[in-house]
Amino acid sequence: MTAGTASAPTLHLGTNADPHPRRSQPGRTARLRSRLVRAVLAIGFTGVLLMWWMDTPAGPAATPGQLANTIGELAGMLGGYLVCAQVLLIARIPWFESAVGLDKLVRWHRNLGTTVIFLILTHVGLMIVGGMLLDHSTPWNEVFILLGSYPDILTALIGTALFLAVGLSSARLVRMRLSYETWYWLHVTTYAAIFLTFLHQLSAGVNFVSNPVNRLLWLLLYLGTASAVLTWRFVVPAATAWRNRLSVDRVVMESSFAASVWLRGRNLEELGVRAGNFMLFRFIGWGHLLTAHPYSISRVPQADMLRITVGALGDHSSLIRWLRPGTFVFAEGPFGHFTADRASRRRILLIAGGAGIGPICALAEEMTAAGRDVVLLYRARSQSHLALLAELQSMPGLTVIALPGRRWDLGYDPLSEDALAYYVPDVGRREVFICGPEAMALQAESSLRSLHVPGEFIHREELSMS
Ligand SMILES: Cc1cc2nc3c(=O)[nH]c(=O)nc-3n(C[C@H](O)[C@H](O)[C@H](O)COP(=O)(O)OP(=O)(O)OC[C@H]3O[C@@H](n4cnc5c(N)ncnc54)[C@H](O)[C@@H]3O)c2cc1C
Repeated sequence: MTAGTASAPTLHLGTNADPHPRRSQPGRTARLRSRLVRAVLAIGFTGVLLMWWMDTPAGPAATPGQLANTIGELAGMLGGYLVCAQVLLIARIPWFESAVGLDKLVRWHRNLGTTVIFLILTHVGLMIVGGMLLDHSTPWNEVFILLGSYPDILTALIGTALFLAVGLSSARLVRMRLSYETWYWLHVTTYAAIFLTFLHQLSAGVNFVSNPVNRLLWLLLYLGTASAVLTWRFVVPAATAWRNRLSVDRVVMESSFAASVWLRGRNLEELGVRAGNFMLFRFIGWGHLLTAHPYSISRVPQADMLRITVGALGDHSSLIRWLRPGTFVFAEGPFGHFTADRASRRRILLIAGGAGIGPICALAEEMTAAGRDVVLLYRARSQSHLALLAELQSMPGLTVIALPGRRWDLGYDPLSEDALAYYVPDVGRREVFICGPEAMALQAESSLRSLHVPGEFIHREELSMS
C-alpha cells in the first residue's frame, strides 16, 4: 500500500503499546560483545598498573621529587597504553567491528583522546617538577637537563607537540572551524607522534630499562598495534579492492539534492554487505582522492552491483554527481549494525530524513521482501528533495507517508508525539529504525519514548562520526 504526501494531523489517537515486548536477541548479543571489548581494554589497563606497581622501587614517595617522578612515570605508561587502545579501536579489526560497530568505536576513540592528552601532559609536567625538586633547578634548566641526560627525549618532545596539536584540533570549537580534510590529515600525524614518543619509553622509562619482561610486553603491545593497523587498514583493503575491482557504473540524479551512484565489481557477495550497512568509499578521481567518506548501501546488494545514494551536504558529497563511469573505487567495509536482523517484531516503522533515505530504502526493500508489515515516514525539506520516492512507492507491502516541508511552513512538527500517533496509530507495536539529521532523529526518538516504544525497539543510524 502507498500513501501520498500527508496532511497535518489534528488529533491524538494514543498508542497501542505492545503488552508483551520481546527482547531483541541481536541487540542483547551486541551489548554483551561490546561489554567484552571494554572488559579486554580494562584488563590491559590493570595489567599496566601492575607492571608499574611491581617494578616501582620501594619507598617511591620518600621525597616529593621522587613521588612526582613515580606518578609521572605511571601517567606516561597509562597514556602509552591508552594511545595503543585508541589506535586499535579504529584499526578496522573485524572482531571489534562486529562486536561494537565502527560508529561506536569512533566515539570511544574520541572519548579516550581527552584522557590520553591529560595523561601525557601530567607525565611531562610531573617529570619536570620531580626533576626540579631533586636537582634544585628551574623548569627551563630541568628541560635541558632531561634533554641532555636521557636518550630520545628530543624526539619524544616533538611527538608530544604533535599529540597536543592533534588533541587541540579535535576540541569542539577548533574542529568546527577546520575542514574535515585538514582535521583528518592532522590526525594522521598521530602515527608519527606515537613512533617518536615510543623510543624514549624503552630507553628512558625506569619501568622498562631495568625490566626485560616489561620491555618485551611493551614492545609486543606496540608491534601488535602497528601490525593490526598495517593489516586491516592497508593490506586487507588493498587486496579486497584488487579482488573486487569496484568502479562507477553510472550516476543517477534522484532529486534536486541527492544522486545515486551504481557501482559495479566482481565477487561482491564475498564482502557480505547487507541492506543498512555503510562502507568507506574513496573515489579515485579529482576532488575525491584525499579522504574516504562513509555512505550507506541504498539497495539490497546484487551479485555484481552496489548502490549508494548521496545527498549534497558538503564539498565532497556535492561533487559525487559529477563522477564519471569507470572511475575506480576503494571501498572498506561493510560496517554498522543498522540491519534488518536487529528487528524482532514483525511490524516495522521506518523514519527517514534527508540523506538518511539511502539506508532506509534498502531496509524497506529487504524487510518487505521478508513479509514484514512496514510503514515509512519520510521527512524532507521540500517535495523536490524527496529522493527515491517513486521506487519506494512501487515497493509491494510498503506504506509510504511522505512529509515534505519545513516545520515553520507546515505549522507543526510531523515527528511530534501527536503527529506520530496520528500517522501510525499502532506505533507502540512497531520496531523503529531512524536515519536522518541528528536533530530530526532526536525528536523522533523522544516522541517514540513518550509513546511508550521501549528503547530496545528503537534503532538509530547517525550520519556523522565526528
Ligand atoms: C555511518 C554513516 C553513513 C552515512 N551514509 C550516508 C548516505 O547514505 N548518504 C549520504 O548522503 N550521506 C551519508 N553519510 C554522511 C556523509 O558521510 C557526509 O555527508 C559526507 O562525508 C560529507 O562530506 P563532505 O566533504 O561533502 O562534507 P563536509 O562539509 O566536509 O562535512 C560535512 C559533515 O560530514 C562529516 N564528514 C566529512 N567527511 C567525512 C568522512 N570522511 N568521514 C566521516 N565524516 C565525515 C564532517 O565531519 C561534517 O560533520 C553517512 C555518514 C555516516 C557516518
